Amino acid sequence: VDELLISGPTMGTTFNVKVVTDDQSEGFREDLEEKVREVVDSIDDRMSTYRPDSEIETFNRGGTEPFLASRELLAVVEEAQRVSRLTGGAFDITVGPLVDIWGFGPSGATETPDDETLRDLVAVTGFEQLEVDVERGTLRKVRESCRIDLSAIAKGFAADRVSEALTLRGFPNHMVEVGGEVCARGFNGSWQPWRIGIERPTAGGRSVQLVIPLADLSLATSGDYRNFFERDGVRISHTIDPRTGRPISHNLASVSVIHASCMTADALATALGVLGPEAGFDLAEQQDIPAYFLVRVADNVFEEKETGVWSALIENSPGAESVD
Ligand code: FAD
Repeated sequence: VDELLISGPTMGTTFNVKVVTDDQSEGFREDLEEKVREVVDSIDDRMSTYRPDSEIETFNRGGTEPFLASRELLAVVEEAQRVSRLTGGAFDITVGPLVDIWGFGPSGATETPDDETLRDLVAVTGFEQLEVDVERGTLRKVRESCRIDLSAIAKGFAADRVSEALTLRGFPNHMVEVGGEVCARGFNGSWQPWRIGIERPTAGGRSVQLVIPLADLSLATSGDYRNFFERDGVRISHTIDPRTGRPISHNLASVSVIHASCMTADALATALGVLGPEAGFDLAEQQDIPAYFLVRVADNVFEEKETGVWSALIENSPGAESVD
């Protein structure tokens, strides 16, 4: 059966959707593309820190009074807080000001912040600064200066929501990718599990390290090889360790996580990326998180480490292959 491909720009990156369907007509494609765009645009409206009129920026500008949030924003913040607690604060959406001051947010700062500035910012960030009241449907900041950044979880959420919309419209076999986070449902056009490539974390080229079969599961990868810049010869990663306020500097080049929810996989991948190749791997093993680590041992040379549940999951699915 054919697969219909729909792509487009969103959230400063792109989405790619493959739907198993016999209908390859232009009208059908346009209709489906409009539906996908509706879903990703509504999430952008709510969760983009690049748009002053977004729901999250309205919250970020507000004070410490309870903020009546949309169901979507509440669901994402609640899951973010759960992952923060699970990872001892390694994942932390209140890192907004730290992300900004290192030059990865909308302000585009270029100077390396001094120790005092960092200490002050670390003192006012922390996921405990943010209260979620699910009954009342409100978010509340403990400190006015708290600013949240959902860049490490909302793309996964967007993939989940596009997938739900496709299933609801009668297309249960599809693959949704938003900014590298993938949600695979059902089978591909050859009635096989979707085959998803994990990139080799080399700064230059885009080669594949591993291809894995994915059916009714999601995969997210967090890495320091794409979104970084060099400053005085040092690689500044966009992933910040909330405990130090500094970009991560260990040698974990990328970590991929499989989970039923793409939102959760997205957040866990960033959290393990913060914790690094040892502490991150230990936590993933302890928590039975299917995770695949690529540790840089020399320039463009990587050591693979996978948790037991990752190996079990992949070995039991037909079609996994390493691409050397
Ligand atoms: P991930 O590892 O998934 O996320 C890393 C990002 O998460 C960092 O960039 C930082 O923002 C944040 N982060 C860093 N450390 C932590 C931590 N310890 N805990 C939690 N979060 C952390 N980019 C643009 O250039 N233009 C846009 O218009 C734009 N719009 C966006 C709209 C939305 C709704 C979202 C969610 C993101 C948008 N982005 C935009 C950002 C961009 O899409 C990516 O999210 C960003 O590049 C990081 O995604 P990643 O997969 O590369 O890294």
